Amino acid sequence: MRPVRQSSSTRFLHWGPILSIIIYKFVTLTTLYFTEMWWPCFGSLGGFLNNVLLLTLFVISFSCYLKSVIVGPGFLPLKWKPEFEEDQQYLQFCTICNGYKAPRVHHCHKCNRCVLKMDHHCPWLNTCVGHANHPSFLIFIFVSIIASIQSSTLLLRTLLLVLAQYGHRVLVYFPLKLTLLWLTAFGLAICLILTLSLLLFIQTKYVLKNCTNIEDWIVGKAISRREQDRNLPPFIYPYNLGKLNNIKAFFSKNDGIHWAVRDGCGEYDLTIEQLEQKLIKESWKQPMVVIKEYNGRWFPLMFGLCVCCQIPWTDETRMPLNVGEIVQVTRFRKYWMYGHKSYSNGTRLRGWFPKPCVYSIPSALKKDK
Ligand SMILES: [Zn+2]
Ligand SMILES: [Zn+2]
Repeated sequence: MRPVRQSSSTRFLHWGPILSIIIYKFVTLTTLYFTEMWWPCFGSLGGFLNNVLLLTLFVISFSCYLKSVIVGPGFLPLKWKPEFEEDQQYLQFCTICNGYKAPRVHHCHKCNRCVLKMDHHCPWLNTCVGHANHPSFLIFIFVSIIASIQSSTLLLRTLLLVLAQYGHRVLVYFPLKLTLLWLTAFGLAICLILTLSLLLFIQTKYVLKNCTNIEDWIVGKAISRREQDRNLPPFIYPYNLGKLNNIKAFFSKNDGIHWAVRDGCGEYDLTIEQLEQKLIKESWKQPMVVIKEYNGRWFPLMFGLCVCCQIPWTDETRMPLNVGEIVQVTRFRKYWMYGHKSYSNGTRLRGWFPKPCVYSIPSALKKDK
């Protein structure tokens, strides 16, 4: 698969950004509509300031959201090489981008490019969160939580006024047909508070450690490797510079390739650990031959109900298979497997497929594959 050049405008043509924009506008406009009934914008100073605050939060968070999508994570140039040839031995090579992966760079199979300081691929942005858009993404989450708290409080106050007005002067017009509108907006605001707060908690933890979602995973594996094998030299995460410096590093602008490391650590400590982990992963993989064709559908009914009911709930790709192909399987589930197949030009296709599609190659033949 060839790497693609993503244009920022096409990123919006996806269910993630479309739904995000609709939800966000819907909650804000519905809140303004209900609040106008009992706290009109031009009825008092309080009403005016409330509207200004709600709209200001909306503008800040929405512009941070747009910035995160438009700026994108920052991609490593195609065919990238380190400055000194001897450093190539410490780096992984990306066969899709046809270049070495700089420290903290990972290839995203959704963006189909090597991403600078990749944290995760976010379907709501339809791009990765990485070096260039991580600060705006974090500000977006933080301001959105405050905006959602304000919206849910105003919507709740609307409901309390409706409940309190029976037998009294009618302040809020709240017919049954608006109940659904209120319920949807309030439900969405609560969902936003809960999910974004959890995300903010996780992201803040990473910022304070100067690591990413992926690096946290790599460090976890590095620690568990050393628990199993006491002879391995200790691993120190090289980018943890202390909480204050980590926050500064998060918001500072560098080239996304060269990073400051703590005393006693080297520029390639993490990439060397990654290479060692990759070697172990390679030794686990199992070659299998395809005996049934698979078209890459998420619910392949032809393989039975058990396969359809227990699909892997991840947005990772599904890999179509043709009879006779060889697949290197790296992950095993009861009804599904994950692996990759290689083409003669050096590229790889990877993804999930139903377990009944493949048959384990007898060990005597493995060395030929
Ligand atoms: Zn790549
Ligand atoms: Zn991505």
